[in-house]
Amino acid sequence: IGNLSDMTYRAVETLKSVDFVVAEDTRHSRILFDRYEIKTQMLSFHARSSERKAEEIIDRIAKGETAAYISDAGTPCISDPGFKLTNLAARHNPNKSLPSGRSGGGITIIPIPGPSAVTTLLSGSGFPSDKFTFLGFLPHKKGRQTILKSLVEIDHSVLFYESVHRFPKLLKELSEFVDPNRTICVGRELTKMHEEIYRGTVAQAQDHFTVENTRGEFVVMVAPSNFKI
Ligand code: SAM
Repeated sequence: IGNLSDMTYRAVETLKSVDFVVAEDTRHSRILFDRYEIKTQMLSFHARSSERKAEEIIDRIAKGETAAYISDAGTPCISDPGFKLTNLAARHNPNKSLPSGRSGGGITIIPIPGPSAVTTLLSGSGFPSDKFTFLGFLPHKKGRQTILKSLVEIDHSVLFYESVHRFPKLLKELSEFVDPNRTICVGRELTKMHEEIYRGTVAQAQDHFTVENTRGEFVVMVAPSNFKI
């Protein structure tokens, strides 16, 4: 999610050994490739890529090539376009289970665990983390208010992603629809040079994160309603 040293040995070995790598943004992933001297051929697949492109990639794999998918940063398929590929791959293989438990024929998806912004904040928050809900990106308009209002009496931590542009507005909404005194944790630029983990009430966060000084990438965690730090 931002720090190249958080790459796992297994991930690097895999990127070196597959026939080709599918990346969300090849320019972005080039930095990673250079750091770990990965020479594998790379092609792009992003949110606006066509269904046809996904099919072409999956076709190559079905014919015997091996491929790895990397999103811009973090764990593929956590709120990024990776799902389109894994879904197609999974459908390609109609779940034929062999007695050994291995799947029969088709395409095998092998997940390689790694860092994700949501789990990174969860482990560094100091907030209850035995049970949590992750909502990804909230809808921009329809349903947004309803979701926020549903947090008022929730008994576990709730996390979501928010873009830098909407972050100040989100704090305002939390104050209005949840509670200005609700405890939150904000993870900004996690694992990067300007990493910040801010804990406080919504109102305090509004004072701290002004429109002028709000930069970077954000994960927001709303504590259970009865939790105070
Ligand atoms: N797949 C990624 C993952 O596992 O973390 C998430 C992809 S999603 C398209 C991008 C969003 O994740 C950003 O808008 C931000 O909300 C969050 N994010 C990614 N990197 C982050 C970081 N270093 N610090 C805080 N939030 C981050």
